[in-house]
Amino acid sequence: MEYTIANGYNWLTEMPSIKVQWYKVVWNKYNVPRCEFIIWLIQHKRLLTLDRLKMRGMDAPEVCFLCGSEPESHIHLFQECCFMKRCMQLLVDWVHIPITKLQNVTSLLKLRGISALSRKIIIAHVVGIHYWVWRCRNLCRMEHFVMQHVQVFQLIKQECYRRFQVSFAGSMSIQDRNWCQMLSIC
Ligand SMILES: [Zn+2]
Repeated sequence: MEYTIANGYNWLTEMPSIKVQWYKVVWNKYNVPRCEFIIWLIQHKRLLTLDRLKMRGMDAPEVCFLCGSEPESHIHLFQECCFMKRCMQLLVDWVHIPITKLQNVTSLLKLRGISALSRKIIIAHVVGIHYWVWRCRNLCRMEHFVMQHVQVFQLIKQECYRRFQVSFAGSMSIQDRNWCQMLSIC
C-alpha cells in the first residue's frame, strides 16, 4: 500500500490502545505543569538515569548522586533512595496519611477516607516530590549543589499552593475547607 499521511493516521488509530491507571496521577488539575512531563517520563522509565546511560555504552558513574550508596535507576531514585524517602516522610507527617497509601500510583488512586479534592492536592505534592528529586539529582550531578530535603519540601508546598490558588474554581465543601485550612492551603 502506498504510504500517505492519512494511511499513517489510520494505522495509528487502529493500534490497540493500552489503558493505564497512572494517567489520573499524571494529568491532575492541581499538578504544577512542569512536573507533569517528568512524572510522565518516570512512568515510562524514560529518564536518563545512570543505569540507562551505561546501557547505552556511556562512561557514567554508577552510584546515586543523592545518597552516594546505591546504583542509580528509576526504582532506586523514586522508591528506595533515602532522599526520596525523607521528602515523602515530610508529606506523611504533614497530611497524616500512612506512607503505604502514598508510595505508588495504585495506592494514591485508592486513597479512601478523604475527598476527591484532597486526593488531587496530595497527588500534586507527590508529583512535585518526584520532579524535585530528579531536579536535585541534576543539581548534584551538574553543579555539585546539594539541597536539603526540608528546603525542597517547602518549595513543593509553595508551588502546589500557588497552583491550587489559580486552578481551583467553584465552591468548597465544609469538609474540604476544614482540611485545606488545617494544612494552610486556603
Ligand atoms: Zn540514592
